[in-house]
Amino acid sequence: MSGRFSKSPITPGSVIGVLGSGQLGRMFAIAARRMGYRVHTLSPDEDTPTGQVADIEITAEYDDLDAVRKFANGVSVVTFEFENVPAIAASAAAECAPVRPSGGILHITQHRLREKTFLQSSGFPVTVFRRVLTVDELRSAVREIGLPAILKTAGFGYDGKGQARIASESDLEDAWVGVGRQEAVLEAMVDFECEISVVGARSLDGTFVHYGAIENRHRNGILDTSIAPARIEARIAHDAIEMARAVMDRLDVVGVLCVEFFVTKDARLLINELAPRPHNSGHFTFDANLTSQFEQQLRAVCGLPFGDVKQFSPAAMTNLLGDLWAGGEPNWAAAAALPDVKLNLYGKAVPRPGRKMGHLTALGGTVEQALRDAEHARQLLVSRATADRLRSASK
Ligand code: AMP
Repeated sequence: MSGRFSKSPITPGSVIGVLGSGQLGRMFAIAARRMGYRVHTLSPDEDTPTGQVADIEITAEYDDLDAVRKFANGVSVVTFEFENVPAIAASAAAECAPVRPSGGILHITQHRLREKTFLQSSGFPVTVFRRVLTVDELRSAVREIGLPAILKTAGFGYDGKGQARIASESDLEDAWVGVGRQEAVLEAMVDFECEISVVGARSLDGTFVHYGAIENRHRNGILDTSIAPARIEARIAHDAIEMARAVMDRLDVVGVLCVEFFVTKDARLLINELAPRPHNSGHFTFDANLTSQFEQQLRAVCGLPFGDVKQFSPAAMTNLLGDLWAGGEPNWAAAAALPDVKLNLYGKAVPRPGRKMGHLTALGGTVEQALRDAEHARQLLVSRATADRLRSASK
């Protein structure tokens, strides 16, 4: 559909449309407004992280296709800030404006089974998996794959949501109920050495840039810390980057895409997940690189050349989840006193446990130092009341 639109550069002053309204859209909007673009965002919510920064915030359901068409008619290009926008919304938008990356990429990456099938059939290494539609199929899949394993909903999962770990046969029924008795993917549990990601950007003419391999640590299925560059062998980093490039070429991506990998104990790479947008593990680029992942996304969708990805120094990022607010407002002044640490908050009013409220980026002489500073800063944020509560909970 978008082939009928001009591929000439979309220049500053033009309007960029963002489907979705979370923190990724917010940082994208900051990058876009800095370069003189206008930003419209559409999502079902109000006073959103993206809407607070955008020129116009439109509140409509994604399946309100008239609203989506009207929105797309008012912009020069449409992009996404999260992949769970229904494919019909992407198609409706594509009637009115170029959509970058294309709705077909969303369709694949918003569904684990389609994504894994695409990766496997294209020759990329993935974890052993089985499709599961009933509890009986789950039972036979467990027999084939073995335990421990992890059951994930096929659609609309992120940040460890819609997942259940199965350690023994007795967990099986609970896991099936836990994922809502719906189409799911059973994966062998990988006893990995570490997790890494590659955030790449690809332009209309196929130019590819990347931020190297990033080392990630998760807690409860949610990204907790990212370290750049990753502390892994150069060969593994090189292979991961080449795989990310090949995935993006294969999907003909225009924009940013993140490939998340497991590095196995015997130094093999397995692709865990794709995210066709700027990614949490690339947030450090906002503070630590000459051109952030958000600006590259903007440049890609506007048909502009990429900026230099140069990183000023080793960096570490720690996420700030709503749990940090449990004992009251975090101690912002204490963390702000660390000169090498940058505070990023997303403007979310309600700090629910597990909700991503912001992040800290620390720059350091080494990744170890950056990591220490980022973790120290997060610790300083914990208010006195939360610290007391956490201490008594651990006794
Ligand atoms: P996902 O939502 O699939 O990215 O999963 C979130 C996190 O759960 C991953 O980053 C891993 O830390 C963990 N995880 C997911 N799948 C597996 C697996 N097959 N083996 C081991 N850990 C996993």
